Amino acid sequence: MATKGVISQFISEKSIELGFDAFGFSKADFLAEDAPRLEEWLSKNRHGQMTYMENHFDKRLDPRKLVNGTKSVVTVFQNYYPEFIQAEGLPKISKYAYGKDYHKVIKKKLQKLLDDLQQFGNIQGRAFTDSAPVLERSWAQKSGIGWVGKNGMLINKNLGSFYFIGILLLDIELEYDPPFATDHCGTCTRCIDACPTNAILPNKEINGSQCISYFTIELKEAALTTDKKWDDWIFGCDVCQDVCPWNRFSIISNEPAFAPKKEILNTTVDEWQAMTEDAFALLSQASPIKRAKLEGMKRNVTFIKK
Ligand code: SF4
Ligand code: SF4
Repeated sequence: MATKGVISQFISEKSIELGFDAFGFSKADFLAEDAPRLEEWLSKNRHGQMTYMENHFDKRLDPRKLVNGTKSVVTVFQNYYPEFIQAEGLPKISKYAYGKDYHKVIKKKLQKLLDDLQQFGNIQGRAFTDSAPVLERSWAQKSGIGWVGKNGMLINKNLGSFYFIGILLLDIELEYDPPFATDHCGTCTRCIDACPTNAILPNKEINGSQCISYFTIELKEAALTTDKKWDDWIFGCDVCQDVCPWNRFSIISNEPAFAPKKEILNTTVDEWQAMTEDAFALLSQASPIKRAKLEGMKRNVTFIKK
C-alpha cells in the first residue's frame, strides 16, 4: 500500500479533476463539541416534525459508528451558484434546486473517486451528500474548509457559502488538514436581521422548525397554519445566504448538472396552480423539487398568495 502522503495527494488531484472547489481531510473521530449542541437543539424541538433528526444520535456524532472501520473523512465542497436567477415577482425557488439533484451528482463523483482509489488496494468507503446522519458542516470546518456562520451555513473565505458538501468515509489513514480555527462573522448580524421568520437565534442556533425550508419542503401537513411571512418562497429560502457579505463575490458554478432548468426558474403562480401531475413529473425530473411533491408546491403557492 502506498503511503498516506501519496494517497492524500492522489485524492487532492482527483478532487480537482472532478471539479470540486475545495476539499479537506480529517481523522474520523467523535464530534465532542457538537454533542451537547445537538442534544440541546433536539430537546428544544428545533427540528419540528423532522423526526429523522432524532434517530442515529450516536452515528451522527461519530462516523466510525455509521460505517465500521472508518478512519478518515474526506470532505468536498461544490459550487452551485447559478448563472441566472429568477425574475422578480415569480414564486421563489432556492438556488440549490435550480439544476439537477445534487445528491446524485455529488455522490457519483465521490463514488468515482473511491473507484479510482482501488488502484492502491482494497480501500473501503461510503459516499454521502445530505443523505445520512452525518454532520457535514462540522466535518468541513474540521477539515479546514471554513467556519459555520451565524446562519448555520459553512462559509469559505474565498468562495462563500453557495456550496454543497459531500462526504467520503474511508477505512485508511490520510494526512489530515488542520481545522479552520477562526470565525469571520464578527459583529455582522445581517442574516439574523433579514430572516423572514426569525429562525436564526443567537449563538448560531437555527430554529429549524421556523425556517422557510422546513415549512416549504419538510412539513407535510396539507394546510399551513403558521402566521409567518415567507417573502414569496415556495421551495427553500436563500435570504440568509443572499445577504451574507461573504457571498458578494459568488462565482458561477462550473458543474453543468447545476445549470438552471429554465422551466423551474420561470413558472408563474398561475402555472403552478394549474399544473397537472404529468407536467410536474416532467418539470421535477432529476430535480430536488420532486421532494416537495406537486401537492406541496401548490400548497406553498396558495400560502404565499393568501
Ligand atoms: S433559510 Fe430563510 S427562513 Fe431559513 S434561516 Fe435562512 S433566512 Fe431564515
Ligand atoms: S450574514 Fe453576517 S453573521 Fe450571517 S453568516 Fe454572513 S457574515 Fe455571518
